[in-house]
Amino acid sequence: MTSMQLYNSLSKTKENFVSRTMNKVSMYHCGPTVYDHVHIGNLRSFMMADFIRRSFEYLDYKVTQVMNITDVGHLVSDGDDGDDKMTKALKRGGREITLENMIDIASIYEASFKNDLDKLNILTPHHMPKASDHIMEDIAIISSLEEKGFTYVISDGVYFDTDKMPDYGKLGGLNLDDETESRIKKNNEKKNPADFALWKFDEKLGWDSPWGQGFPGWHIECSGMAQKYLGNQFDIHTGGADLKSVHHNNEIAQSECSTGCSPYVKYWMHGEMLNFGGAKLSKSTGGNITLGSVEEKGFHPLDYRYLALQTHYRSPMNFTWEVLEAAHNGRKKILNELLSLSQKNQHQGVVLGEYENQFKERIQDDINFPQALSILHNMLKSENKAEDKVVTAILFDEVFGIGIEEYLKSFAVPNEVVELAKKRIIARKEKNWSEADRLRDAIAEYGFDIKDEGTDIFSFSKK
Ligand code: AMP
Ligand code: ZN
Repeated sequence: MTSMQLYNSLSKTKENFVSRTMNKVSMYHCGPTVYDHVHIGNLRSFMMADFIRRSFEYLDYKVTQVMNITDVGHLVSDGDDGDDKMTKALKRGGREITLENMIDIASIYEASFKNDLDKLNILTPHHMPKASDHIMEDIAIISSLEEKGFTYVISDGVYFDTDKMPDYGKLGGLNLDDETESRIKKNNEKKNPADFALWKFDEKLGWDSPWGQGFPGWHIECSGMAQKYLGNQFDIHTGGADLKSVHHNNEIAQSECSTGCSPYVKYWMHGEMLNFGGAKLSKSTGGNITLGSVEEKGFHPLDYRYLALQTHYRSPMNFTWEVLEAAHNGRKKILNELLSLSQKNQHQGVVLGEYENQFKERIQDDINFPQALSILHNMLKSENKAEDKVVTAILFDEVFGIGIEEYLKSFAVPNEVVELAKKRIIARKEKNWSEADRLRDAIAEYGFDIKDEGTDIFSFSKK
């Protein structure tokens, strides 16, 4: 059997994956800044983390996943200037700018984010540390960098001196010569344009530190939390491609220079962007589509997951409501086909080995989910026994996570209830809401709750 091949942004090649500890994988994922609801672009990058985890678990690795929650810090542009994102959130809500309020508002959006993860079948990472709980870890790293001569202090904070690290910028992507193209703006006090803040002073707000009150820079937070939960070196680090050139190069610099251990991370994996209307989906460009917006339009969150599975994580993905509609129909077709196959299921099925091998090969080829999906489709089209196809699809769905088993289980209900649910779909289509409510109550009398999944899929849960 071949081993896992992963594209490593560090070497810019596909490499054989060799973990630091046999059969174990340690991973860190840059998590959300919880100053608002996350958008479906952010969620694409968190789904990628889940695709990687599920693939390794399918291959019998024991995975440890860390995804941080950025709830405080100097959360501004790559150039260390501009308005702090958490401050913006407080201003938006008309609240007083205090540390307590910052942490409080962050907890609201953290809960919303975790809810999105659940809805998208993203397995909960083993550790989800918050930046505000790890300020001491950040201070320890900055102190160690200071002792080793990597820092200098200017009027607004403590900075990392990139000239002191000969191989700074290993991940590439920095364009420091051209100020107009560079995302890093000039700060006349900085020694080099690439130097970045480790600690930013703030007279009014923040934490005490050996250098004065203030906030950690946002890059140091990831170094602090990764080191605490995974040690000085670990296997895989992921994030969106937009974080590679500045945030991740800076994380490498801080971690490797403070610990003296290199490489900090063996495999760097970057997910391409979700685009909308020809540009990267982001709050600032007005395309702020959340999972809530997706549900409001009548889609199931897993329709979006199914859509994301169809594009390789290293390819940009264009979002339109039409492609989501197509994904909704595609998922519905798979679920309904399996439902009809499972109704023919007389015996216990067995996994179809030929398809399982092909599926594994696609997964091992840099997590090629679009191709793995085509194996599912080929398997469904094949002439094999219904029960074997169902068992094989359920196995594949351990990786895809599009809710196959849950859907089939939801039909293990009395026929009368299914009939009522079908009538309810008709009532809803006719916008006969009183009849739809009556049917919901009738279903409830049998001990089931009905959940509408889009316009014509439903599932049940026991009351
Ligand atoms: P942020 O909260 O802005 O730090 O972003 C959290 C994660 O979402 C990071 O890994 C980003 O790279 C990723 N991200 C942001 N925008 C997009 C997008 N349009 N498509 C895919 N990933 C994104
Ligand atoms: Zn990060």
